[in-house]
Amino acid sequence: MIENCPECGEPGTMLVYGLPGPALADAAKAGRVSLGGCMIEPGQPDWFCPARHSWTDEDVDGRGRLLDEIVAECNAPPPPPTAHAGAGVVEWRAGESALTLVTPGAPDQVAPFAPSIPVDEYAFVVSPDERYVALFIDSGHDRHYPHDTHGFELFEVRPEFRHIGGLPALPGDGHPPVFSPDSRWLVGFVADGYRVRGTGRHFTDLFDKRSGARVTLDWARLRALRLPDQELHWVDVGVEMPVSAYPHEYMDWDTEDAVGFTAADVAVLRMPWGQEVAVSLPPSAPVTGDRPPTDPYYSAFQ
Ligand SMILES: [Zn+2]
Repeated sequence: MIENCPECGEPGTMLVYGLPGPALADAAKAGRVSLGGCMIEPGQPDWFCPARHSWTDEDVDGRGRLLDEIVAECNAPPPPPTAHAGAGVVEWRAGESALTLVTPGAPDQVAPFAPSIPVDEYAFVVSPDERYVALFIDSGHDRHYPHDTHGFELFEVRPEFRHIGGLPALPGDGHPPVFSPDSRWLVGFVADGYRVRGTGRHFTDLFDKRSGARVTLDWARLRALRLPDQELHWVDVGVEMPVSAYPHEYMDWDTEDAVGFTAADVAVLRMPWGQEVAVSLPPSAPVTGDRPPTDPYYSAFQ
C-alpha cells in the first residue's frame, strides 16, 4: 500500500468508489475515507493528500482490509456511560443491579439498587460538589411500555457510596435532571401531556376551530427534589392557548436542555417558543408562560 503521498510525503486519504452503504457513509462523514463518486473507471486515483496530490495504488487487498478496519472503527457501538466523582469513576456493569465506584488504589465500592423501569438508555449526572450521582433511565418504547417512561435513581458518593432514593417511573419523553450550582436541588423539566389547568380534561377534547375561548394548557411539569432530605416539589408548567389551536402547534414541544439555573435556588425554564421563565425554588405555584400569538396569515392557511 502507498499510504503516504509520493510527492510530498503527507499521509493520504483513501478514495472509495461506488454507491456507499450506511456504514461506509459514516466513515466518510467522519473524514476517515473520501467518496470518489459512483462511476468506476480505469485510471482513477486511489488516494489523495492534503495538498490534493493523488496517486494510484495496486494493493487492492491491502486497501480492502484497511477499509474494513476503518469502517468497523467508525461504526463501533459507543462505550457505556460512566461518571467521574471525586477520584473515582462510577460504572454500571452489564447485568448488575448495582453501581460500582472504582477508585484507583482503593477497593471497589458497590451500591445495590433495583431499577424500577425497563432500561433502554441511561446517563449519569454528577452534582457540582460531587456528593451525589443521579442515574437517569429512559424506558424507550416497547410492547409492554408503549409510552415513554423515565426516572432517575439517586446515589450518594460520600461519605459512603450507596443508593439513597430517586424519582422512578414518570410518563413522558424525559431528559436527565439538572443539579443546582450548590447541589441542594435536582430538577427535571419534562413535557408530559396536554392537560387543561383546573379541569382534569384533555386539551385536545376541547378543540373547536370556531371558538375564541382560551384556556391554560399544562403541557409539562417541573419537579424539584430538595437535597439531602429528598423532599419533592412539583408544579405544572402551562401556557394560555386558544381552544382553536391545532395539535401541530404544540405536539412537538420538547424540553431538551431547557432547564438551567441563574442562582442556587432560581431555576430557569426555556419555553419551546424561546421565552425564559425564572422559578424560585421550591416552586410554590403553577408556572405559566406567555406565548406570542401565531402569525394570523399562517393560521389562516391551516
Ligand atoms: Zn502530496
